[in-house]
Amino acid sequence: MRKTLIAGNWKMNKNIGEAISLVKELKKLVEDVDDREIVVCPPSISLAAVSAELKGSSIQLGAQNMHFEKQGAFTGEISPLMLKEIGTKYVILGHSERRQIFNEDDELINKKIKSALENNLTPILCVGETLNEREVDKTREIVGEQLNKGLNGIKNKDMKNIVVAYEPIWAIGTGKTATPEQAEEVHSFIRNLLKSMFDSKTAEDIIILYGGSVKPNNAKDLVSKDNIDGALVGGASLDAKDFAEIIKC
Ligand code: PEP
Repeated sequence: MRKTLIAGNWKMNKNIGEAISLVKELKKLVEDVDDREIVVCPPSISLAAVSAELKGSSIQLGAQNMHFEKQGAFTGEISPLMLKEIGTKYVILGHSERRQIFNEDDELINKKIKSALENNLTPILCVGETLNEREVDKTREIVGEQLNKGLNGIKNKDMKNIVVAYEPIWAIGTGKTATPEQAEEVHSFIRNLLKSMFDSKTAEDIIILYGGSVKPNNAKDLVSKDNIDGALVGGASLDAKDFAEIIKC
């Protein structure tokens, strides 16, 4: 039985004071929720403060990125050990903005996934096609390649510690959401592909999130699909009430 997971990706938004206010409000709004895994992913500069604010709450902390090395001469980077030290549980890897703006490729993302697992962090591996790729019917090819390369060398036993997020790039921050049917079609393709890469029971248990303009008014229809196990939420996670409504959908 897969537990619904709702994660908020704040991207490069909210200063430290605003981050604390947001989690304070969110904690109150979701204190009675026990059937969902809730994750907030603030900018790295706010992780420690948000971690302290989350003590004693069931809301989990996630990072938006990390380097694959534990330490060293990597100016501007943050290591998995540093994330662990401040109580981070999840780390988003391979987000389309990292792929497109910062030129991250599947090989680099694969190194980060392996490093996250070695350091007891749960990676949220993001995959998804552009609008052009969808229009020329390449969604399966692109998503399949991102999964094959991103998960290259990952063992069955480690897959229970990996979350996959299907995020069609044309739906991120655009207000255009994939219909629940469009999303479910790709999620079911992903589940079947994972069954061909790992054992069937392992693949059945993997949480596959949908991301791309998830809002309070469309979350329920998406999450009620068989293979959609939750949501990775950008814009709507910046408002505690909207995010809480999505969590409770
Ligand atoms: C995201 O950044 O992962 C995302 C899905 O953003 P939004 O919800 O704003 O489309």
